[in-house]
Amino acid sequence: MRKIASIALLISASLVAQTSAPSSKPTAGDAEKFVAAAEAELNDLALKAQRADWVQENFITDDTEQIASDANDALTEAGTRLAKEAVRFDGLKLPEVTARKLTLIKLALDIPAPNDPKERQELTRIVVGMDSAYGKGKYCPDGEKTADGQPKCYTLNDAEKVMRESRDPAELQKAWVGWHSISPAYRNDYVRFVELGNKGARDQGYKDLGALWRSKYDMTPDQFAAEEERLWQQVKPLYDSLFTYVRTRLQQKYGKQLVPDDGPIPADLLGNMWAQDWTHIYSLVAPANDNRGYDLTRILEARHTDAKQMVRYGENFYKSLGMEALPPTFWERSLFTKPRDRDVVCHASAWDIDGKKDVRIKMCIEPTGEDFGVIHHELGHDYYDMAYRNQPPLFQNGANDGFHEAIGDTVAKSITPDYLKTLGLIEKVPDESSDIGLLLEQALDKVAFLPFGYMVDQWRWKVFSGEIKPTEYNKGWWDLRLKYQGLVPPVARSEKDFDAGAKYHVASNTPYARYFIADILQFQFHRGLCRIAGYKGPLHRCSIYNNKEAGAAFQKMLAMGASRPWPEALKALTGEDKMDATAILDYFAPLKQWLDQQNQGLKIGWAQ
Ligand SMILES: [Zn+2]
Repeated sequence: MRKIASIALLISASLVAQTSAPSSKPTAGDAEKFVAAAEAELNDLALKAQRADWVQENFITDDTEQIASDANDALTEAGTRLAKEAVRFDGLKLPEVTARKLTLIKLALDIPAPNDPKERQELTRIVVGMDSAYGKGKYCPDGEKTADGQPKCYTLNDAEKVMRESRDPAELQKAWVGWHSISPAYRNDYVRFVELGNKGARDQGYKDLGALWRSKYDMTPDQFAAEEERLWQQVKPLYDSLFTYVRTRLQQKYGKQLVPDDGPIPADLLGNMWAQDWTHIYSLVAPANDNRGYDLTRILEARHTDAKQMVRYGENFYKSLGMEALPPTFWERSLFTKPRDRDVVCHASAWDIDGKKDVRIKMCIEPTGEDFGVIHHELGHDYYDMAYRNQPPLFQNGANDGFHEAIGDTVAKSITPDYLKTLGLIEKVPDESSDIGLLLEQALDKVAFLPFGYMVDQWRWKVFSGEIKPTEYNKGWWDLRLKYQGLVPPVARSEKDFDAGAKYHVASNTPYARYFIADILQFQFHRGLCRIAGYKGPLHRCSIYNNKEAGAAFQKMLAMGASRPWPEALKALTGEDKMDATAILDYFAPLKQWLDQQNQGLKIGWAQ
């Protein structure tokens, strides 16, 4: 995850109504002046908001929350105002850089407010209200009491722990149903949010809010939708194989009544509240004599590796590619361990405070293999930030929003057994028989996620366009869950429910397509880097550790930031100017072959 003071997320209630365009026709010179002033203003406000957010997440108190909220309000107010003003220069012939900056200013908002101040305030209230209802969500099952006789209540954290760890279908169902009882409270708000959000998008000249979201990719909204569908069709056979294999193993565990032949899988059996990441059921689906060759968590624990040392491993990887050391302030200002004396937001995040050298991470690091990977992910954000720091502020961003999430995950693919042996963390590289277990574990994360990453915004785009009507929100959600993921709800649902709203990114109105394309891109980047490194073997065994040529190509792409359309950045690294899912297929090819053997004689996929 990446923390940047977002001019996108919230709409300030304190917005000043914008006057309409001045009567005289603006010139190219006016546009240049406007862009320079806007860039400086946004940069200044972003810096203030970053500092306020950092303090708030490191010292959670009522006061720091208020300070952070004020700083973000100021930034959002400016973002909204400038996005609307930028429309004035539509149709002018402008230098390329100015035109691109104007587009970025216009597209910076995820939820532009309608022109009417009353509606703008209503939209703000709804957006903030849904986000906080989700954040505070608790359910208290009938009849359960605490030791002192109070009703016993559960948070999302509690429910997620059950989803990860329990193998009792009744318990899983209870946790799933419990968490999904939070969102109906804001179903009506969501209906109104869609009306107002669409109105704001239309006031800016977009067909609806979905069209605005799809406009952020240097192509038309329809072209982007077609690109996503093309990628999905590329990966669907791989997902179908994984799905079919996992269904067989779940049937062995839970029986045919719960998991019938050829049918969809109940959504509460996959180890995650949204069934978007299946790694926590690895032990249920592991190959017969599971031998992944090593257990990184045990090794790190046995060596008493501390949090800083874990981060040093990550930094060392990036340095081995020829990238710079992390600055001294990174080590002084980052948070690596959970403080004992105060509340902090522990969810791992990377920060670029000033657009210069002040990068940080904030994480409560444990000595686990999982956190080892997360550190490489977060440092990917920081190294991207440092690489483009010489770009003007508006270009200090990922080439598109999927790129930023993909960088660190690309590097994490090079944490291979070979690499761990180079570090001295394991003594010998396990032979190829352990590859299937290692690949299956990764597929439960990266392949299982694909249909979910795709369907969340399929649903929202249809909701924004009116194709899915408010009276069919829940039916529409489950139609797509079945079509793409092959899942059914664990209990009967109705239009009283609002299951889409039980996902954070829906409740908080964060666009989701970025996660789908990041999942595709990270394999494409990895393949491109391995090619540059001259690597010839199977893609999943490639590590670019210590390879300066690969590092230089990587750095070149990162340094472009958002200065050019993303296909050019992609081409700089991979030689390809289209997103291409054959890389993820290459990576998992040995697993696909193995899955297809396991699935022999079975019907692949599920009855719709
Ligand atoms: Zn991230």
